[in-house]
Amino acid sequence: MTVEIITIGNELLSGSTPDTNASYIARSVNTTGLPVSRISSVGDGIEEIVGALKNVLAETRSVIVTGGLGPTDDDCTSRAAAQAFGRKLCLNEEALAAIEKKFQGIQLKVPFPSRKQALLPEGVQIIPNPIGTASGFLIEDGAQQFMFLPGVPYEAEAMTESFIIPHLREKNGLPQFIISKTLRVFGLWESAIQEKLQGILPGKTSVSLAYLPHYPEVRLQLSARGTDQDAVRSDIELCAGIIRETIGEFIYSDEDEPLEAVVGKLLTQRRATLAVAESCTGGAHQ
Ligand code: AMP
Ligand code: MG
Repeated sequence: MTVEIITIGNELLSGSTPDTNASYIARSVNTTGLPVSRISSVGDGIEEIVGALKNVLAETRSVIVTGGLGPTDDDCTSRAAAQAFGRKLCLNEEALAAIEKKFQGIQLKVPFPSRKQALLPEGVQIIPNPIGTASGFLIEDGAQQFMFLPGVPYEAEAMTESFIIPHLREKNGLPQFIISKTLRVFGLWESAIQEKLQGILPGKTSVSLAYLPHYPEVRLQLSARGTDQDAVRSDIELCAGIIRETIGEFIYSDEDEPLEAVVGKLLTQRRATLAVAESCTGGAHQ
């Protein structure tokens, strides 16, 4: 059982908008223990979207698609989905009612382009949007299911939490939990850390350790999975404790906080202040 993520938008391909939806959704899906097998992006053209939907890997069971559900003419994901799955595009009463409710809330008549957001492929299940006017929708196609979300990041993120993740857990009978903890290390290179930690983590736990260097520091990410949330958490804490005993003097945060935040907290605790002065560079930095 694998999951694919497809994000839609010309702005993603031009590089003008970083694809935060893909990384957010991948992180959330990973907490269920389901692997994400592929992430891809396509432009807003209808043929490109149809091609991407038809190109999903045979072994993929769930596909999460974001983008192109807006009211304007450049958004055509619903039309592309209808075409890809050989369904008619029709007015979805549930989606229309949700749009009307949103506009009633702000005491406005539904503008014509917004009604377009209720034109969806026939026979879909609606994925409620708790924030905006674009309903998401789910299409079952043989053994595969396709879940479409709007592109607006805070809407896509909210719907991932309210629908996608619970749905994936329920559909796949997934009691698995993945928990991770990130220690931030300053003053030791990746290879020096590895040398010191060689063979010290107990083999009996499922905890894996990833080295994520980002000059001038290294993040050590501990992750573990299992069906008993408390046991997974205690395995993580056990390994974090062992690492702390070994290289504790180089660890400045075990909650993945940036160095500035940790320094700021320490200054506040100690009622100390830090003054910095910059001079003679004319604002340039080296
Ligand atoms: P759309 O629904 O495709 O029209 O997108 C609405 C807004 O969300 C636009 O400002 C997009 O740039 C932004 N957006 C769409 N897809 C993504 C994505 N994958 N990551 C981050 N922002 C996105
Ligand atoms: Mg778009």
